[in-house]
Amino acid sequence: MRPILDCDANATYSPDEQIRGVISSCLNSLGNPSSTHRGGQRARADIEEARATLRRVVGAGGADTVVFTSGATEANNMVIRGAAQRGGGLITSALEHPCVLAPVLQYQREGRSVVLVQPERDGLVSVESVVRHVTPETALVSIMLANNEVGSVNPIQEIAAAVRTIAPKAIVHTDAAQALGKIPCVFSLLGVDAMTLSAHKIGGLSGVGALVLRHGLELEPLIRGGAQEGKLRGGTENVLGINVFGKALELIEKEGSERFARMSHTRDLFETRLTAELSDVEFHARAVSRLPNTSSVYLAGIRADDLIVAMDLERILISSGAACSSGKPEPSHVLMAMGFDEEHTRSTIRVSFRADCDDAGVERLVASLSKAVTRMRSVPRAA
Ligand code: PLP
Repeated sequence: MRPILDCDANATYSPDEQIRGVISSCLNSLGNPSSTHRGGQRARADIEEARATLRRVVGAGGADTVVFTSGATEANNMVIRGAAQRGGGLITSALEHPCVLAPVLQYQREGRSVVLVQPERDGLVSVESVVRHVTPETALVSIMLANNEVGSVNPIQEIAAAVRTIAPKAIVHTDAAQALGKIPCVFSLLGVDAMTLSAHKIGGLSGVGALVLRHGLELEPLIRGGAQEGKLRGGTENVLGINVFGKALELIEKEGSERFARMSHTRDLFETRLTAELSDVEFHARAVSRLPNTSSVYLAGIRADDLIVAMDLERILISSGAACSSGKPEPSHVLMAMGFDEEHTRSTIRVSFRADCDDAGVERLVASLSKAVTRMRSVPRAA
């Protein structure tokens, strides 16, 4: 059953009607891009068109490398392993998605020097907090552009510039999976060596992503096999997923900054209306640069998991922290890193709007949340 209102766009931005139409037309060109016959060549041409679109939309140069992967998880693993193979220390932040934290922490268990930079209470990773740990031997600095749970947007351009002055050979990487389609995301302006993207965060299909690499940066493949993707990723390409990624990129390009403005209007309306309806509400990262569609809300006296179920019964989707950790008993590592206690994290929901959510949708969400929260607060909680 499809939801009436999907306010969980940071988990997955399900394809809209236009993209659903594109999916069926893409089914006509599913040849193997490595085949020399016309079916294969057509699939190859479609993939190269998607690659050119991606380069254009994210401001990567013609000489920069774009490797299509099975998602942001693989892209992050590829750049982390590639950097680690060069030797030297690894620096990342405690805010990162588990697909950055898990491989980096594995290297730490194997004896490598690893630093997890702590964010401020507002969810930002400051330039100083990173630079403090950088040495000429640093192999990797990986800081996400935008956080998936609280939406804080880190000063990547400044971090990259500062790291270069101390460690010119370090790979500076940013996970931009949540930034694409929500804020300008321009590879050449960010000044990083590598950037990770994910298709299903912008209305493409899950299981597809990309790693953008600065011209001249050489990395070992993570997946070895055939010579696909410039010998950087073996395996027959996900032709359908890559085509649809290209079309989703074209759509966000067409919408331009109007898309960001719409999201921001929706999010601001939500926060104003919710504050008017409910007491004891606190928004995280509100005072800093953050994604225009994301609202991380602490609701005193509420269990976020119970609220998610109550909303789901009304066919409204929200989440508690990251989708990947939903269903797990652990509290959000992001909020904990920001200095909040466990109780606070368990009373926090994440609302992440689609670009097509209108004011009526916001009113519906606020009405349902207010009703459920008021009901839950009136029932004494078991100790
Ligand atoms: N990085 C961030 C910041 C994310 O939010 C996610 C997914 O939630 C990922 C990486 C993983 O993306 P994928 O599902 O494409 O592997």
